[in-house]
Amino acid sequence: MSLESLTALVRTIPDFPKPGIAFRDITTLLADPAGFAELIDRMADRIRPLEPQFLVGVEARGFILAAALARVLGAGFVPVRKAGKLPGPTVGIDYVLEYGADRLELHQGQVPVGARVVLVDDLIATGGTALAAAQLLREQGAQLMLALFAIDLPDLGGMDLLRNDGVAAEALLAFE
Ligand code: IMP
Repeated sequence: MSLESLTALVRTIPDFPKPGIAFRDITTLLADPAGFAELIDRMADRIRPLEPQFLVGVEARGFILAAALARVLGAGFVPVRKAGKLPGPTVGIDYVLEYGADRLELHQGQVPVGARVVLVDDLIATGGTALAAAQLLREQGAQLMLALFAIDLPDLGGMDLLRNDGVAAEALLAFE
């Protein structure tokens, strides 16, 4: 399947979650067996040479992709969640959003010092979420090999935010 066909499986929902926002919805791609397989295969091909020990997924759609990739690549899956959702002792990072602040958490000790990890999410927009997750992983002493996204919104500059912080970052698809 071509990247164009994969792109065509992503649905755009106007005015979600707020007026003026065009939400790129991957649930239509995930519901398509050939499309889901193609997305995971392409992401797995990019990640495989990096030999990660853990795929780290960001709540919530990042879980879907990171879990599938962990299974395909024989790696572990580790969730990064919003504050207060993980049951065990956590480490966290506060970060600033366009409107307000938020906090991401990781189970303490789940990513050992020196571990080779790849960060995965469905989409990068401003990059604020991914940068916070990357910084949290680094604070834990992880080796962040790559941050990989299904979709980039290049107009919002998230890739540059990550790269300027020394994080290798790539995406499969782009929406202007
Ligand atoms: P950022 O922090 O501005 O880069 O926003 C990225 C986060 O918001 C990711 O966790 C995405 O899942 C979510 N997100 C932002 N915009 C969209 C969208 O259009 N579709 C799906 N998820 C989005």
